Amino acid sequence: MKVLVINCGSSSLKYQVLQMEDETLLCKGLVERIGIEGSVLKHEKIGQDKFVLEVPMKDHKDAIGHVLDAIVDAEHGIAASMAEIEAVGHRVVHAGEKYASSVKVTEAVMAALEECTELAPLHNPPNILGIRACQELMPETPMVAVFDTAFHQTMPAESYIYAIPYEYYEQYKVRRYGFHGTSHKYVSERAAAMLGKPLEETKIITCHLGNGASVAAVNGGKCVDTSMGFTPLEGLVMGTRSGDMDPAIVTFIAQKENLSNADMNNVLNKKSGILGISGISSDFRDVEAAAEEGNYRAQLAEKVFAHKVRGYIGSYFAELNGCDAIVFTAGVGENDKAMRATICSNMEALGVKIDLEKNDVRGKETVISADDSKVKVLLIPTNEELMIARDTVALANA
Ligand code: ADP
Repeated sequence: MKVLVINCGSSSLKYQVLQMEDETLLCKGLVERIGIEGSVLKHEKIGQDKFVLEVPMKDHKDAIGHVLDAIVDAEHGIAASMAEIEAVGHRVVHAGEKYASSVKVTEAVMAALEECTELAPLHNPPNILGIRACQELMPETPMVAVFDTAFHQTMPAESYIYAIPYEYYEQYKVRRYGFHGTSHKYVSERAAAMLGKPLEETKIITCHLGNGASVAAVNGGKCVDTSMGFTPLEGLVMGTRSGDMDPAIVTFIAQKENLSNADMNNVLNKKSGILGISGISSDFRDVEAAAEEGNYRAQLAEKVFAHKVRGYIGSYFAELNGCDAIVFTAGVGENDKAMRATICSNMEALGVKIDLEKNDVRGKETVISADDSKVKVLLIPTNEELMIARDTVALANA
């Protein structure tokens, strides 16, 4: 069975086609600048050179049409006809409190997603557009929605309720939702397999450190707490997001700088984090290079980032009453050995001892803690697309 996985953003979309009998990746690609001048599709059949198509794509339907053409193309395609694509899995950011697991798309599901748009005004609309476009282009093909928030729905109320008037939760659904759920779920399951323990008996802290970053406390395979909140802004310092801070700063700066709500949102989401502190870049590679050359603010950005991750790890240690493994994943977690080492240094009191030689590795599933470390430290490349494809197979024909 071939499954198409789609992740739609506002002006871009990523896709993969997987052969699910052996879970192999057949092709993957990216469309950028949808609805903007200079639309481009980059398609890669695994084992072949990239195929690049530059044609105007006025909307998501246009873009997905070109993706489908590439998938069945005689040269760089991976299917003889669209009939071979038996199901489509869509990444959807927000399901509010409606869904704690993936669902087959129906009109009732679409209505529920529309309702959640208020909670994710930037993310859910393009996800919905992507599903609608696929439905029009492949009306007979079953679709499945896989949510970023779903895995975190097992959090107890003490983890998700904010200490503001309770009516705001009741009236507006203001609570912690958490994001990156598909990734935290995937790596915690892989971690259990690497530990050789049943998932139900594991306590794992998963650190998804990419441009967006979050930590989760996973007890027996169920999320009990996570650092992102009502929106992805809370928690760790990220590429351009502030993460946690005193909420009083928001009104103070807004007043000083005469910023509107939208301006302030933009500052906190797009101009803060690693970029805001360093003044150099949101990309850890650029900031690291500057830090090595002695740039103080670049060094500080890295230290603040590591400090926040360590704080969450310590907090979740307490919440879980110990832990079997700490997992690093996503762009920084998988590639940045120096950051992993900084985060895990001076944690012997918690039973965490990283092995610098084993840590000298990138992007592969491996143990990076010392043999005598009570807590295993694991590097596990995330694979959200595979998780989406698995759920899609499970639900498509249900
Ligand atoms: P997202 O999916 O949130 O956009 P990723 O998980 O792909 O992000 O992570 C992207 C980030 O990972 C980049 O912004 C960069 O900071 C970081 N990154 C990637 N490779 C490296 C590396 N070799 N060293 C340090 N950081 C890296």
